[in-house]
Amino acid sequence: MVDPRVVEAVVAYVKENSKAKEVWVGDNPSLGQHVGRAKPAFDASGMEKAARLGGVDQVVYFDETDVVEVDIPGAKVFKKAAVFKPLLDADVVINLPKMKVHLAGTVTLGLKNWNGIIPNYHPDAQQQGAHRIELGQKMADLYRVRKADLTIYDAIIGMEGQGPHAGTPIEMNLILAAEDTVAGDAVASKIMGFDPIEIPAVRCAATDGLGEMDIDKIEVVGETIASVFKHFKRPNNDPIGMYNGLTCAMQQTCPGCYVNVRGALDSFANSGIKMDDFLKAAGEVVVLAGGVPEFDPADAKDKNLFVCGDCWEYFPSADKVREASKLAKSVTYYPGCAPVYIFAQLNGDLQALAKK
Ligand code: SF4
Repeated sequence: MVDPRVVEAVVAYVKENSKAKEVWVGDNPSLGQHVGRAKPAFDASGMEKAARLGGVDQVVYFDETDVVEVDIPGAKVFKKAAVFKPLLDADVVINLPKMKVHLAGTVTLGLKNWNGIIPNYHPDAQQQGAHRIELGQKMADLYRVRKADLTIYDAIIGMEGQGPHAGTPIEMNLILAAEDTVAGDAVASKIMGFDPIEIPAVRCAATDGLGEMDIDKIEVVGETIASVFKHFKRPNNDPIGMYNGLTCAMQQTCPGCYVNVRGALDSFANSGIKMDDFLKAAGEVVVLAGGVPEFDPADAKDKNLFVCGDCWEYFPSADKVREASKLAKSVTYYPGCAPVYIFAQLNGDLQALAKK
């Protein structure tokens, strides 16, 4: 998460040095509609306290505000969105991302932060649908709704590896800022050891003419990229083969389920539970998503079956999943597309099984 000191400093600076009548700080935690509300997150993270120390006029819990349905002219995928009203009402928008890697987005920087302008915990819950294979294009489309006037990147301590939730800290001691978020993301990515074209949101936004990703055409002032470069460990988003006794069958799937299962298994790996102990307590696990033409339902017999997402029912292999659910010892369904919450829920459910 963004360092609260950055939030405090930005609020204080704007209060002291701008003509803004009011300064608001808002956020909308992700992880899907079943997990995460803004108010407790603001409190637990220290963000609310930091904003108030900086002199903020209003802390805005986006998930308690109205949304406005907007058309997005020029969008390729996300042509209509329900957008939090405060973002549309603001005269000036300052975007405050953290420098970190991300299983689905490769990195999450200024453009990916725009995932937070649409609701998760809400009847419109569009964040769920944003997390299928076209996540980068959807972030570019959302960026058309309202560009940031300034993006300030907290790169004091970044995150590398299995981000955004199970990575490791990497000390950078940097603050970056850009008026063009695409250019800012491109430079930040380069500092992290990625080519900007590897980052789906940056690639899509630049291709759509929303900003510049060509490092040679971006004016970098202050430190040079080379002088602050650190090679961030890349996230691995493949959940298959992590454990003997925990089988992932997902031959025809998209990143919406695939990546989030990996995210859940990374958290489970960090829980300290040993797989041998888990297997003794709970038995074997099978996780299914999408089409599974090669799957043999007998392989789920007397095991704990987890069925992710909605689309498995539309594949010719759906009867195999139904048959497997009859043979399994326990069955848990995670509906949704993309069911982003499995990121947290599957990990929690596995841990609960281990304790039974
Ligand atoms: S339910 Fe299917 S289409 Fe939806 S995120 Fe999962 S694999 Fe992708």
